[in-house]
Amino acid sequence: MDDLTLENFFKEIDDKFNENDRQIIERAFIFAKKAHEGQKRASGEPYFVHAYKTGATLMKWGLDAETIAAGLLHDVAEDTATGIEEIKKEFGESIAFLVDSVTKLGKIKYRGQEKNVENLRKMFLAMAEDIRVVLIKMADRLHNMQTLEFVKKEKQKRIALETLEIYAPIANRLEMGELKGDLEDLAFKYVYPQEYENLVKKSKPLYDKIRNLLTEVQPIIETELLKENIMPVSVHSRTKHLYSLYKKLENPRVGGDFDRVRDLAAIRIILNTVEECYAVLGIIHRIWKPLPGLIKDYIAIPKPNGYQSIHTTVFGPDGVIFEVQIRTVKMHEEAENGIAAHWAYSEQGKASVGGLSNQKKYAWIKQLKDWQESISDNKEFMENLKIDFFQDRIFVFTPMGEVVDLPEGATPIDFAYHVHTDVGNHCMGAKVNSKMVALDSELKNWDMVEIITTKNKKPSEGWLTFAKTSQARSKIRVALGMGKKDHL
Ligand code: MN
Repeated sequence: MDDLTLENFFKEIDDKFNENDRQIIERAFIFAKKAHEGQKRASGEPYFVHAYKTGATLMKWGLDAETIAAGLLHDVAEDTATGIEEIKKEFGESIAFLVDSVTKLGKIKYRGQEKNVENLRKMFLAMAEDIRVVLIKMADRLHNMQTLEFVKKEKQKRIALETLEIYAPIANRLEMGELKGDLEDLAFKYVYPQEYENLVKKSKPLYDKIRNLLTEVQPIIETELLKENIMPVSVHSRTKHLYSLYKKLENPRVGGDFDRVRDLAAIRIILNTVEECYAVLGIIHRIWKPLPGLIKDYIAIPKPNGYQSIHTTVFGPDGVIFEVQIRTVKMHEEAENGIAAHWAYSEQGKASVGGLSNQKKYAWIKQLKDWQESISDNKEFMENLKIDFFQDRIFVFTPMGEVVDLPEGATPIDFAYHVHTDVGNHCMGAKVNSKMVALDSELKNWDMVEIITTKNKKPSEGWLTFAKTSQARSKIRVALGMGKKDHL
């Protein structure tokens, strides 16, 4: 408890916070500590530990003072005698709104499929209204997972399963890769205890070997950079998350063969400028020979989701192959913390509730809200969700070079309806990479898609057999005069 001081909490605080911000956080800190006084966690620790950790995570993600304050206060209205009205009086509408929304989100407990859907629906509504609500919920869940061992056995599995099925996929969709990996790893041993144990045993020698290598390699890199007067912000290694390794080994193409997993470990070099990134690539290739064909410059050509970094794979000491990832601080934070980093870097911050969902990159959050309101049947909602939201995405281009984000397995019909209802309804053919293709052919990542329309063309029922997105399917049904169930 001694280290749960305001002084410690402020150790990580960012320079971006002004005096007013600091005061808000400080007041929330003291308020929450007092409100939770005498309460204990299942671990026997003071309850305030949980508020502290939640706030600290939000601070680490670079969020604004209101969000950090709301994170500190997030369980006050639920678990203590202090009501939401008092928080409103003390901290204003905005923070009270965040706390209240987080409390409401927590009200529904996960009990199988039906409740699962309700939970997701609520989560999406909150997301569309103010993404910060979901981020607080994520930070809250992270600490709950870190302390799950103290919870009653029968509750453990339910919470872990909910984490695996709801929280981790949402974190993934919000491009919060680090959080997604952490949540999955924490849930893994409770949901699949046997598989977890087996994999830990099997992978340990490999991880040990590669970790040793990376520890050996790190100082070599630092010394060489210094010779060129480059001061990296950080040189560190990351190993693949265990659950992600489990999933990969399960893939039939990998068939449990560890040798086929190439990204078990990587060295990350974080720098201040893009110029330094390119200089460092040269230095790395001077120390160790690169594997041909594996140098990827996502700085010059970012991935469609905006990911930027330089990747190269090299023959290290003793012929051990490892990957090196080179990027700037900003690129790194966006890669690890996704939407939270975008929030942190965009100036709008607290000015607009709703904030990020107004940005083009996150337009899907708004779409999701409309769509969840239009489908009342839970089963159908869940099925569509699996396809449209959680399935792996592909990115294809319009002839004008605009990126369109579709689920894997999508066809030109999905693309056409994504562009415009009229384009879909009058679609008569499609060109992929300048070649005519059948309307039911599957699109692949990076395809350039062009739709040919003609006035007289109308949708046919057959399209429903290969249209994948709920957007396309519902529009086809409308055009065919079929049931209105899933249209607005
Ligand atoms: Mn909590």
